[in-house]
Amino acid sequence: MKVAVNKIPQEGLLLEEDVSAQSWDMDSFDIKFVDNIHVVCEFSKVGKNILVKTEVTTHRIITCSRCLQEVGQKVVQKFDFYYPVSHLGDYLEMDEAIREQILLEFPMKVLCRPDCKGLCPGCGVNLNYSQCQCVKKSD
Ligand SMILES: [Zn+2]
Ligand SMILES: [Zn+2]
Repeated sequence: MKVAVNKIPQEGLLLEEDVSAQSWDMDSFDIKFVDNIHVVCEFSKVGKNILVKTEVTTHRIITCSRCLQEVGQKVVQKFDFYYPVSHLGDYLEMDEAIREQILLEFPMKVLCRPDCKGLCPGCGVNLNYSQCQCVKKSD
């Protein structure tokens, strides 16, 4: 997503683009992107700054770190960027800033759901779906 700074009109400019997750090298071992990353940027002038309101929509498959299930997730993220016009050249190139922001918001712990019960360390059963007969050790 690249825009000529002097082409941004006072009333703003809306641009959309589909970026392949592969070209941005987004996959990690527990997060796989299965769809393009749909990027919508709204450029506008606010005082001496360019404000870029960004919305990113994508679809990814995560591997839960507790129960090891693969789960599809639709993700919508919104970011606002401000750039002082005096610091910009002729063009404003958004790709790297957006990519970094998506990576920053990757969850620290990838979970299929916040209360995932995980796998029983004794028998390996998925405790979200079934109970097992393992005796709980008291400590
Ligand atoms: Zn899980
Ligand atoms: Zn068990």
